[in-house]
Amino acid sequence: MNPSRSSLLGDLDIDVTLDAPIGAMTWYGIGGRADMLASPRTTESLIELVKRCRANDTPVRVLGGGANLLVDDGGVEGVVIKLDHEHFRRVRYTATGDITAAATGAGADLFRLVQDTRRRGLHGFEMMAGIPGTAGGAVRMNAGGAWGQMSDCLRTVTLLSLNGVAQTLNAADLGFRYRGSDLSSGIITECTLELREEDPIRVRDRVMEIFQHKRSTQPMADHSAGCAFRNPADPETGRHLSAGAIIDEAGLKGTRIGGAVVSEQHANFIVTEPGASATDVRRLIDEIRTTVLERMNVNLEPEVVIWKRSDVA
Ligand SMILES: Cc1cc2nc3c(=O)[nH]c(=O)nc-3n(C[C@H](O)[C@H](O)[C@H](O)COP(=O)(O)OP(=O)(O)OC[C@H]3O[C@@H](n4cnc5c(N)ncnc54)[C@H](O)[C@@H]3O)c2cc1C
Repeated sequence: MNPSRSSLLGDLDIDVTLDAPIGAMTWYGIGGRADMLASPRTTESLIELVKRCRANDTPVRVLGGGANLLVDDGGVEGVVIKLDHEHFRRVRYTATGDITAAATGAGADLFRLVQDTRRRGLHGFEMMAGIPGTAGGAVRMNAGGAWGQMSDCLRTVTLLSLNGVAQTLNAADLGFRYRGSDLSSGIITECTLELREEDPIRVRDRVMEIFQHKRSTQPMADHSAGCAFRNPADPETGRHLSAGAIIDEAGLKGTRIGGAVVSEQHANFIVTEPGASATDVRRLIDEIRTTVLERMNVNLEPEVVIWKRSDVA
């Protein structure tokens, strides 16, 4: 499929933007464009889109909230799918005793989900307070932190393969681990969260506590993609060390390349200033890795996902 010919999708219930400024849609707000951005309105049109892309060897990527993503200045080829229509953002709650299953569309916004579950007095999702993005992105990244991670409350994940086959998988079988899982490539369209009824005041207090902690330790008001690097495992104990503390100890706080800067507040955040480019961020990532290896003998792996041309998902 030649993505410059949107008429090829004209029979599908999909909003299409050609030469779409996807870099501007990320939390960094920088980086290039995609040949095509497609927002399907229904599951059927999403499946048909994926099948046509496969048949035409067109690369497919999925954009969630763009909170863990850096798009290269040269942009990306092929189709970027965004599940931002209501159909993919719905959350349906079903209570059985004091357990509530929340069937959550992959495009559901994490901030709203935290507030919604808090209002309903549902315990189990508080750990996502202050983490931006979508449910699909949080499943893919197994997002979380000191208070827990997405997999703690996940019961099922519905995955659409890039062949166009949908399957609902038991989360317990997916090997979720620190910021990862055995989930293969594909598009997460829905997940089910298992939450428990609790005193809404206690849920609210926990959400507030976590949010306040993040606000006081992370540069939440700046442009970033959250932690730039994964916390490395200690070779002796296997326990994860703080990448931020290691970068700080290497003396890199405040290091700058162009408009990209190692945050003074939290050394694992690379923040940007007006005029920054994605190339500045990528060069700073490389600089941090090289310096930390030299000075601390630690090999840091990026946590931020970097999209560039010919980098098929
Ligand atoms: C200020 C700030 C604070 C943050 N704090 C934290 C934190 O405390 N803990 C933490 O873990 N993260 C944190 N992050 C990173 C980010 O919030 C999480 O990684 C989040 O889960 C990203 O979700 P997203 O929808 O924005 O994904 P995106 O950034 O859009 O995408 C990330 C990856 O997931 C894939 N993806 C997205 N949606 C789908 C889908 N439906 N199906 C398949 N793949 C998909 C993308 O292709 C990409 O590979 C922070 C980010 C910021 C900006």
